[in-house]
Amino acid sequence: MASEMSTQQVDVTIIGGGPCGLFASFYAGLRGMSVRIIDSLPELGGQLTALYPEKYVYDVPGFPKVLAKDLAKDLITQGTQFHPELVLEETATEIQKTDEGYILRTASGLELPTKTVIISAGAGAFSPTKIGIDREDEFVGKGIHYGVKDKATFQGKKLAIVGGGDSAFDWCLNLDDTADAITLVHRRDVFKAHEDSIEKVKASRVDMKIWYAVKELHGNGSLTGVTLEHTQTKEQEHFPCDAVIVNIGFKSSLGPIKEWGLNIVKNQIQVDNHYETNLPGVFAVGDVCTFDGKLKLIATGVGEAATAVCFAKTYIDPDAKLFPGHSSDMEISH
Ligand SMILES: Cc1cc2nc3c(=O)[nH]c(=O)nc-3n(C[C@H](O)[C@H](O)[C@H](O)COP(=O)(O)OP(=O)(O)OC[C@H]3O[C@@H](n4cnc5c(N)ncnc54)[C@H](O)[C@@H]3O)c2cc1C
Repeated sequence: MASEMSTQQVDVTIIGGGPCGLFASFYAGLRGMSVRIIDSLPELGGQLTALYPEKYVYDVPGFPKVLAKDLAKDLITQGTQFHPELVLEETATEIQKTDEGYILRTASGLELPTKTVIISAGAGAFSPTKIGIDREDEFVGKGIHYGVKDKATFQGKKLAIVGGGDSAFDWCLNLDDTADAITLVHRRDVFKAHEDSIEKVKASRVDMKIWYAVKELHGNGSLTGVTLEHTQTKEQEHFPCDAVIVNIGFKSSLGPIKEWGLNIVKNQIQVDNHYETNLPGVFAVGDVCTFDGKLKLIATGVGEAATAVCFAKTYIDPDAKLFPGHSSDMEISH
């Protein structure tokens, strides 16, 4: 999706195009507000797109079962229908109060004026934890993967899936119908995954290399194999494979947002019951915010987004009604 942007002042700038930011964008459009979405990733969708596109989600109203990537697609359709300005692959790094609202600065030096701000930055801009071995960067996308964007990439391939948590076990099960062979590689015999997933993997055709770590990568242009090392005996063996899927966590950090003078509690932004922060006209919703009773779920986060938008509307125009009315009474063209 191409970014379309200007440096005009907008009514609301949404930092983070995950599910909560996208729903905020939709809601702000519904309320006749001009919107800009900034996201450090090249694609909208947040965690749904970046972290678990091929996993099913069961707890979103109206969807008994939906693949995260399909949910993201519909959220993007809904969240962009009023044509928000999209500023992708840009990280919001600074905020400055002005008489008219705020100026947001990005890592590449853009200056984007806005009347209000909704921060829906999740856990912050995230990056996968790497194995930390030689040649790792060289093979990214050519055999080294930090997630599964498209199962078809692994069709008929011989895979090593590294990790002992839910993601590693989920991918072992999820790719069982796609890959030619799968080996789970984990550095010890303790797993953090759900008991049920562990039992299912043990009962499947997935092979397990327990007490092993990936030490070297081999190949010319694309990966052809790895050296596995026993974490206790240090014995090494060559393991031919086409791809390694690394699931050893993500590092995320609010980074520059922490320096904005917001009240931060355990890496989350404290909000009141309007989802407003201690900075007037700056709201925070979704995983990034905290209050008594906070749940980090899509179902609750999108509700926070709708409420924050209505308070942003009345912040800009104190005569505006807080209650938006029912969308079923509105004329929305598609
Ligand atoms: C494996 C997994 C499974 C899950 N399953 C479920 C489930 O079944 N049901 C459920 O309800 N929830 C589930 N969740 C949690 C759910 O995904 C989150 O609650 C949800 O994504 C939060 O949405 P958000 O919009 O607040 O933030 P995110 O989805 O985290 O999006 C935040 C966006 O902000 C961007 N960003 C951050 N900082 C900046 C910055 N400074 N400048 C620009 N952009 C920035 C990021 O790039 C990101 O795109 C799951 C999470 C994981 C990891």
